[in-house]
Amino acid sequence: MNDWRENVRRVVPYVPGEQPDQAGMIKLNTNENPYPPAPGVLKALKQFDPDRLRLYPDPSAAVLVEALAEYYRVKPSQVFVGVGSDDVLAMAFLTFFNSDRPILFPDITYSFYDVWAEEFRIPYRQVPLDEHFQIVPEDYFCENGGVIFPNPNAPTGKELSLAAIERVIRNNPDVVVIVDEAYVDFGAETSLPLLEKYENLLVVQTFSKSRAMAGMRIGFCIGNEELISYLNDVKYSFNSYTMDQLTLALGTEAVKDDDYFKKMTGRIIETREWAKKVLAQLGFVFEDSKANFIFASHRTVPAKKIYQALREQHIYVRYFEKPRIDNYLRITVGTREQMEKMFEFLRNWLKGEQ
Ligand SMILES: *Cc1c(COP(=O)(O)O)cnc(C)c1O
Repeated sequence: MNDWRENVRRVVPYVPGEQPDQAGMIKLNTNENPYPPAPGVLKALKQFDPDRLRLYPDPSAAVLVEALAEYYRVKPSQVFVGVGSDDVLAMAFLTFFNSDRPILFPDITYSFYDVWAEEFRIPYRQVPLDEHFQIVPEDYFCENGGVIFPNPNAPTGKELSLAAIERVIRNNPDVVVIVDEAYVDFGAETSLPLLEKYENLLVVQTFSKSRAMAGMRIGFCIGNEELISYLNDVKYSFNSYTMDQLTLALGTEAVKDDDYFKKMTGRIIETREWAKKVLAQLGFVFEDSKANFIFASHRTVPAKKIYQALREQHIYVRYFEKPRIDNYLRITVGTREQMEKMFEFLRNWLKGEQ
């Protein structure tokens, strides 16, 4: 018997963090930026000429690509942009992970990687982090079809040193190594300088976190010209017009205001370092985070219980019911005021729980 269902590409989808919308809620569950985008972005939004919506956007997204190339001191032919880094990463999986050998990524990492691998039928192997949630470079020194990991890693926030990353790349000359730098602007070291030495490196970044534009959907990657040309070939075989007129205009403005960018990421880093001290006082333990979130476990109270208690207060953090991490909370660094409100509740509530 033939059934049309046998021909369906069935997938288990990625589950994004929830997007509640309540007055007065404190939303620390999806690593969004608590501050507005650069003032130039808001100005460009007000001045945007609606007549431009009649026309198709530039399929090469040249204004945005050029602004990024100038900012990162690379050639425009080394930059590829997409609808959030999720789009860029999906295109990169499709383009570069095309082998019968398994691609490698950590067992605890961005939970979209295994979803894309399944969807595109890419074999994969999840490599366990060590007991301190650290990536062990040597574990990636083996035959594989490609390597991908975030730096800092998600949802742990832990940074891998540039020297360790270089060892992973150096030991994998036959495959593409993708470093997903969604959180790199919050204090970790970027792998971009390694591009001069390694043609098989692709560095992916996003406007969603450090540039406060998750709602606009802009991601990009930088690599050598040949890698980028293959990515463009796949993109143009899929959807030529990924970046719309408004996105191109606003994204370009965001890149121009470096002072604002540095000031706001600096403020988040400051709040994070202060929040680490308070969390420790409240009985939480955590590895050092270089991202705009802290991945923490309480010494005595189960994470799920804390998650639910916070939720009842309309304070949203992220909880993953997954092996090895089901006693952790991923808490986005919000404004100092938001964090203070959360800590005030926890200080009282935890007293009754211990
Ligand atoms: C947030 C995130 C992304 C995707 O962000 P976009 O909003 O699609 O740009 C990619 N990788 C990691 C590790 C992330 O945390």
